[in-house]
Amino acid sequence: MGVVNNAWKLASRPDGDIEQGDLEWVSETLADPAAGEICVRHVYLSLDPTNRIWMSDIDQYMPPVGIGDVMRGGTLGVIEASNADGYAVGDWVSGMGGWQKYTVSAANQWQILPKDTGLPMTAFMGCLSFIGMTAYFGLLDICDPKPGETVVVNAAAGAVGSLVGQIAKIKGARVVGIAGTDDKCTWIKNELGFDEAINYKSENVLETLKKHCPDGIDCVFENVGGQILDDELTLMNNFSRISLCGLISTYNDLDAPGPKMFRNILMKRIMIKGFIVSDYMDRAQEAMEAMGTWMMEGKLQYRIDVRPGLENAPQEVKDLFVGGNKGKLMIQISEE
Ligand code: NDP
Repeated sequence: MGVVNNAWKLASRPDGDIEQGDLEWVSETLADPAAGEICVRHVYLSLDPTNRIWMSDIDQYMPPVGIGDVMRGGTLGVIEASNADGYAVGDWVSGMGGWQKYTVSAANQWQILPKDTGLPMTAFMGCLSFIGMTAYFGLLDICDPKPGETVVVNAAAGAVGSLVGQIAKIKGARVVGIAGTDDKCTWIKNELGFDEAINYKSENVLETLKKHCPDGIDCVFENVGGQILDDELTLMNNFSRISLCGLISTYNDLDAPGPKMFRNILMKRIMIKGFIVSDYMDRAQEAMEAMGTWMMEGKLQYRIDVRPGLENAPQEVKDLFVGGNKGKLMIQISEE
């Protein structure tokens, strides 16, 4: 068959922002699938803040992407050729296909997606993917908010944060979201039902948090780090909880200082726990069922931000670090 593939390979490790030249566009012909392998045509590529971590060689939760390797990334695609039992041409699959148009790889690295769910396929890159699991387990397993408690979430209009706030509302909490534009604040408050929203670029976060959290903060879902985390730590209650999901404000700046209010973890006996969604893989079904049910009941909304063309991926991924995305950012590589 000899499919001609295009791919982005990591050429050098970014120093600060991702720059032109850190990734190299290559073209090569793929071998036909061997026994137990399938050829997948990628339709959607997930762009994620962690792409920047994988490009670096800091000590991290997975091996860094090697120089000269295809950039790692989650993909949804359609099987074009199969040499594996149980994997039929035309089946939709999800897996770590990488920043490329096609993959030929072992079939058991791919998960077959259900057909005829009534949901768009992009849901399997949003609510019904690792994004939904991150929100579900990060909030419920670590923070476990009780009715009436105050939950603060930042990057609140993003893929994970927007789900976190809605799940906290379902659990009866008061939710304050922090986001970077008035438009995002209006969306999370008026459409998603957050109780309050703070634009961290135009408002004093500490003072506005004081106003919106008159009884202090019981739970923080942390996506950002930096000054915002310091402001939250300042107002946390005794025996409050922090789910440490991400630190996006530091991904391009490894020398960023740690929180000045670290001492409040002691003074307020705060429980803080970092997690990676893959820690919860054996409980994936639980999250998918809950998220699916809440979506069907109209209790969960999500936004996707689909950009065209694999060739644009290195430029588009940078939007995550300046807040240019409105919802789950992905690239459409080929037609459904
Ligand atoms: P989002 O869709 O939330 O996009 C990232 C958002 O972060 C931007 O839109 C921007 O929104 C905000 N942001 C970027 N830079 C800054 C900054 N310096 N200060 C404040 N806000 C900033 O991405 P995801 O939902 O995919 O990821 C959110 C977080 O969750 C990330 O930290 C990511 O690494 C983490 N994550 C962790 C996982 C885990 O297993 N632990 C799994 C998946 C994600 P705004 O306009 O509001 O500034």
